[in-house]
Amino acid sequence: MILTLKANATKPQVDSIVKKIKELGFTPHTTHGKEVTIIGVIGENAILTKDIFEAMAGVELVTPISKPYKLVSREFKKENTVIDVGHGVLIGGDEVVVMAGPCSVDTKERLFHTAEAVKAAGARVLRGGAFKPRTSPYAFQGHGEKALRYLADARKQTNLPIVTEVMNINDVKLVEEYADIIQVGARNIQNFDLLKVVGKTKKPVLLKRGMSTTIQEWLLSAEYVMSNGNYNVILCERGIRTFETSTRFTLDLNAVPVLRHLTHLPIIVDPSHGVGIREYIPAMAKAAVAVGADGLILEVHPKPEEALSDGPQSLLPEQFAKLMGELRAVALAVGRTL
Ligand code: PEP
Ligand code: MN
Repeated sequence: MILTLKANATKPQVDSIVKKIKELGFTPHTTHGKEVTIIGVIGENAILTKDIFEAMAGVELVTPISKPYKLVSREFKKENTVIDVGHGVLIGGDEVVVMAGPCSVDTKERLFHTAEAVKAAGARVLRGGAFKPRTSPYAFQGHGEKALRYLADARKQTNLPIVTEVMNINDVKLVEEYADIIQVGARNIQNFDLLKVVGKTKKPVLLKRGMSTTIQEWLLSAEYVMSNGNYNVILCERGIRTFETSTRFTLDLNAVPVLRHLTHLPIIVDPSHGVGIREYIPAMAKAAVAVGADGLILEVHPKPEEALSDGPQSLLPEQFAKLMGELRAVALAVGRTL
C-alpha cells in the first residue's frame, strides 16, 4: 500500500505516520519524489489497515498496490529509476550503457588489454568473473580474490567501474569492497538468503533472470533486495530455457517491454549468455537496444580459444568495436545515446 503525503505535511505528522507503520508490524519505505513524498507500507496484508492511515493527519491518499511485488512496481514509483554506479556512469537514463569484458578474469595482462580495448570502443563498465558458477565441478571456478584485485587495478587504469558476481553469502562483504556493481547470477536468482544479504549492501545490484524464472518470480527476487534496503537494482535478461537447442538459451526480448510496463527499475540485456554463439550475438545486441534496453552486458576476450570460460560466446575486441558503431546507430534511432 502507498501513502501519498500532503504537500504541507509537517515533520511531526510524518514521524507519527512512520511510527504507526512500525507499530503495526510493517516496514516503511519513503521516497521523496519531485512533487510528492510517498511512503510504501510494506508487509503482508498491509492493505487491511487502509482506514487507519486514511484518518491520519498528513496523509493525502492511500492506494493499494495490486501486484505481489511492491517496491519494484511501477505502481509504487512512476518515474524510471536511474542508478549512479560511480565513475560518471548512470544506468537507466538516456544513455545506453554497455558493460563488457571477459566471462572470467584470467591473467592480469589479458584483463588490462581487454579493459583498454572495450573502453576505447565505448564500453562504460568492465565486467569480469572472480567467482564462477560452473555446471561442472571440474570446470574452472574463478580466481577469487586475486581476480577482484586485478579488476580493481583495471578500474584504476581505465576509470571504468566494475561488475562482478557474488555466489555465496560469505563472500558478499569481500565482493562489495571491490565491486561497483554486485552481480547475482541466473543460478542464484532464488537464493533468497543471498538476496537478503545483498539487499543490505550499499552497492548497486545486477540481478540476472534465472533460466527458468517467470518475470513475476524475477521481480519478486528484486523485491527481496529492495525490501532489505538496497533500492539500486538493475534487471538483466540473459536468456531462458525453451525447447530450442540451436542456441544456448532463448533470449527473451519480450521481457524488455513487459518489464518497462511493470517496473521502474533499469533493464539491461545479456546477449552473450542468451545466445551463446559468437556469430549471432551482434544481431541480438542490436535488437535489445531497439526494444528499449537501458544497457547491454557482453563478453569480450582477446583469445577466446584460451578463455577459461565461455570462449565460444566471447567477441573479439575488434568485433566488439565494430558492433559498438552499429549499436550507436540503433540507439540514435530509438532516441537514446551511446
Ligand atoms: C556470467 O555473467 O558470466 C554468468 C555466469 O551469467 P549467468 O548467471 O547469466 O549464467
Ligand atoms: Mn559467462
